[in-house]
Amino acid sequence: MTRFRLTAGVVLLLLTISCGRRGNEPAPKYSLSRVVVITIDTLRADHVECYGYPRVKTPHINQLARDGILFQNAVSPVPLTLPAHCSLFTGRYPIQHGVQDQSGFFLAPGSETLASQLKARGLATGAFVGSFVLDSRFGLSQGFDYYYDRFDASRAKGSTAEALERRAEVVAKEALRWMEEPRPQGFFAWLHFYDPHTPYSPPEPFASLYRDSPYDGEIAYADSVVGTVLDFLNRKSWYEDALVVLTSDHGEDLGQHGENTHGYFLYDATVRVPLVIKLPRKAAAGKTVESQVRLTDVMPTILQAVSESGEESSHTGSLLPVLSSTGMRTSEEAFGETNYPYRHFGWSPLRYTRTDQYKYIHAPSPELYDLRRDPSETTNLFDSQRELADRLRERLWAGYVQLEGARSAGNRTSQTDVNLARQLSSLGYASGSSRAARLGLDKDRPDPKDKLRLYQLYLNALLDSQNNRLDEAANKFHEVLAEDTGIVDAYINLGLIYNRKGKHQQAIQQFRQALTADDSNGVATYNLAHSYALAGQLPEAVRGFERTLALNAKEGRARVGLGIAYQLQGDLDRALEQYNLALELDPYDSAAHNNVASICLARREVDKAILALRQSLGIDDRNAETRNLLGSAFWLKDDAEAAISEFREAIRLNKDYVDPYLNLGMLLGSQKRFSEALSSLNAAVRLAPHSARAYQILGQTYLAAGRKAEAGQAIARAKKLAKP
Ligand SMILES: [Zn+2]
Repeated sequence: MTRFRLTAGVVLLLLTISCGRRGNEPAPKYSLSRVVVITIDTLRADHVECYGYPRVKTPHINQLARDGILFQNAVSPVPLTLPAHCSLFTGRYPIQHGVQDQSGFFLAPGSETLASQLKARGLATGAFVGSFVLDSRFGLSQGFDYYYDRFDASRAKGSTAEALERRAEVVAKEALRWMEEPRPQGFFAWLHFYDPHTPYSPPEPFASLYRDSPYDGEIAYADSVVGTVLDFLNRKSWYEDALVVLTSDHGEDLGQHGENTHGYFLYDATVRVPLVIKLPRKAAAGKTVESQVRLTDVMPTILQAVSESGEESSHTGSLLPVLSSTGMRTSEEAFGETNYPYRHFGWSPLRYTRTDQYKYIHAPSPELYDLRRDPSETTNLFDSQRELADRLRERLWAGYVQLEGARSAGNRTSQTDVNLARQLSSLGYASGSSRAARLGLDKDRPDPKDKLRLYQLYLNALLDSQNNRLDEAANKFHEVLAEDTGIVDAYINLGLIYNRKGKHQQAIQQFRQALTADDSNGVATYNLAHSYALAGQLPEAVRGFERTLALNAKEGRARVGLGIAYQLQGDLDRALEQYNLALELDPYDSAAHNNVASICLARREVDKAILALRQSLGIDDRNAETRNLLGSAFWLKDDAEAAISEFREAIRLNKDYVDPYLNLGMLLGSQKRFSEALSSLNAAVRLAPHSARAYQILGQTYLAAGRKAEAGQAIARAKKLAKP
């Protein structure tokens, strides 16, 4: 009894201390001038040490949570990177901001973002992103003075834009450099660490430490870079007064519900995210909030904290009332969705509504879970608690109607919005549609749950394709399509595989099939045009790239493709025009710079070419093609030594790239350095045994070296190969 009283007394005393400043005293006012938001992509809340996960060490996130407030039940409205970040930074749901998927969507110009609001309050704004998925072309750069993306889109192979990423330490290095510049009005910095996203490949020592769970290794690595950022803020004496937010866009299934990654289902594995908010002066330090909060609440919270009047102003949705003596605001329900199964597979989209205790998932076969008793969502209570499920479905419907109303008040039209309107109407969002249709319920579309086996086969095919097991991958994609002919992404991936195998006609067939299933699919449209270009069907390629641009005027790669098609047809003026338009859209496209240079070289405008190539090297100094073109430019300037060194660098960067071997051979031959020349040219014909041009150059060099017999053989071979 005594012991119990003592404990209660301690608790009371603690409460008195933490609420000591309140009562009748006015709240302290502070002028908050430094806001740092860190999003660690694909971070499951229950894989963070301070969320109770024992198998990963995240000392820096733990420290931040000790200095701040840890939200146990924060949820994302959509388990996809771009849409979720749009929600985080607009405070709006996907149905409101309009970005419902990664490809084919961008945040409408003129959107009100956290960055634009903070900029209006005088803060300098900088963003530093780790993945091409968040490239400024997708609209999230609105309101940022500086947006560090600079991904070279020309390196994206086919549809795998997600492969363009950089490590957290590179993101942080640039962010720290930017924060360190004098900013008397303060700043808002957003850092995005992409590392825990697939593929899981942490650097050492995390690779060794987490050999059996590389996903956790990526988390531990990202945490170490969080430490770098917090150390920096401390060193500058900025940490104490800064507002620091750490969260994620979505989680990762890790096989728990059979989807492995994210985007397909709406279980907590992928929608529950960590959220830690460290307030200035470490207010409410160490507090843990159990009530459900939403990613969309973060923006109003930051805005309220930044307001001069501090806690007095009210921002709808702000989480700051956690500080007040009356405690947490009443918990609000959350909504969420994924259109991924619909847009990529033709299956039903999913919607959820979630309270502190229950989650209702709207699908052709609906689901209801008691999250307190069954946090892993294994027991579907829909049949046994029908009344509750019906009530939650009604609230989901009412919520979406309300959100839809807010959307029409604020959204802008844009190219993508036109497509969006079409898609929304097919999903049943168009006004006047029935309740069921509003929720995206289409009894005719398969439930993603029922298609899980097929989806897994698709994922295995994708994995084979990523690991260059092209035949196995193709077989699996064919198997997927034999079972369901409506899966757009399977056609697209098959097409990409056929292109990699050099079978462009078969690729063309697949992309046409994809367009039969979804005639406005931008990825299929672009790749169809690209395949025509690879097959040498240039007029078809031109039409295809034009159609891609009609669907999305911002698709710079289509401009580059159009330029290449014109260039191959000998129309250099029109080609140059397209490359310049591409560079206006995206100054970081190294292929566009290189193609500009190749046209300049053809016109003997060597200095102009070198200028373009230097820009290209500034984006990517490991591009063999750039080095090869630079070698040609130096050769045209009669600087043979510089040319030789560039050709050799090109070969070092890509041993399988034939052109620099040929260029090096010809240049050395012209200097009568025959043995070196012939060794380079023989390497070229080994790499390209069907190239008449390579044998022709080899033959002429043998001839110049006085080796007539070998010259005769090589030239004969060239003639044979040149025959159609
Ligand atoms: Zn993500």
